[in-house]
Amino acid sequence: GQPGGSSTNFRKKPVIIIVVGMAGSGKTTFLNRLVYHSHVSNHRGYVINLDPAVMTLPFGANIDIRDTVRYKEVMKQFNLGPNGGILTSLNLFATKFDEVISVIERRADQLDYVLVDTPGQIEIFTWSASGAIITEAFASTFPTVVAYVVDTPRSSSPVTFMSNMLYACSILYKTRLPLVLAFNKVDVAQHQFALEWMEDFEAFQAAAASDDSYSSTLTQSLSLVLDEFYKNLRSVGVSAVSGAGMEDFFEAIEASAEEYMENY
Ligand code: GDP
Ligand code: MG
Repeated sequence: GQPGGSSTNFRKKPVIIIVVGMAGSGKTTFLNRLVYHSHVSNHRGYVINLDPAVMTLPFGANIDIRDTVRYKEVMKQFNLGPNGGILTSLNLFATKFDEVISVIERRADQLDYVLVDTPGQIEIFTWSASGAIITEAFASTFPTVVAYVVDTPRSSSPVTFMSNMLYACSILYKTRLPLVLAFNKVDVAQHQFALEWMEDFEAFQAAAASDDSYSSTLTQSLSLVLDEFYKNLRSVGVSAVSGAGMEDFFEAIEASAEEYMENY
C-alpha cells in the first residue's frame, strides 16, 4: 500500500529523491530497482538522468540530460577530459533547469516520486555550482530528499566507513536536506556492523583502535561529530540486485519528506 499512511493524501507534490553516492556504490542499479518497485507497488514515478556520460541505462528516463547535451561533443569543443566534460555538460544543462521544474510542475498531480540519478563521480554533482543550482531548484519547489548510497561491502573497515560517513555528513550540511543512508549490496554483506557503529560510538572506536593506520585521537573526535550527524538521518539496508529493503527505503523517504514539510 501507500507508505507513510494517510499523510500522502494531503501532499500535492511529488517527492524528489536525489540519488548520490561514490562511483560504483550502485546508484544506477538502485535507481532501476526503485523504478521497478514503483511499478509493482503503483507509485507513480518519474525518472531524471543527470549523468551525461552513461552509455546505457537499465531504465527508461523521462528526462535525460543526454537528449540535450552531447557529452563527447562538449569534450571536443572545449578540449576537456572526461570529468571536465561531465561537469561542463552538467553546467550547460543547469542553465535550462527551470524548464525541467516546469515539466514536473505540470505533471505534479500525477506523480508520487521523481527519481534523480547523478553522475558516477560524486563530487561532480555534490561540489559543483550546477549541482547546487539543480538541488536548490528542486528543493525550493518540491519536498526533496537526498538518498546517499553506500557500498556496504566496501565500507566494512572502520577507516573507509568513517570516510564515507564524513562525506555523507558534508552533503547533509551542504544541502540542508533530509538524508537517507541506503546501505546497498546487503545481498553481499549485511549492514548490521554499520548500525552498531552508528548507535554506539564506543563500539566504533574499539573497532577503529584495532586499525593502526588511524590516529586514535582524530578518530575519537570525528566519531563524536558523526554521532551528532547520525541523529539527523535515517538509515536502511537495501540491495539493488535482490530488491531487499525497498519498503523500508520508501518508509524512510516518506518520513524524510514529512521532515522537509515541517522544516523547509
Ligand atoms: P554507480 O556508479 O553508483 O551508478 O553504480 P552502478 O549502478 O553502475 O553499479 C556498480 C556495480 O555494483 C555494478 O557492477 C553493479 O552490478 C553492482 N551493484 C549495484 N548494486 C548492487 C547490489 O545491491 N548488490 C550487488 N551484489 N551488486 C550491486
Ligand atoms: Mg551510475
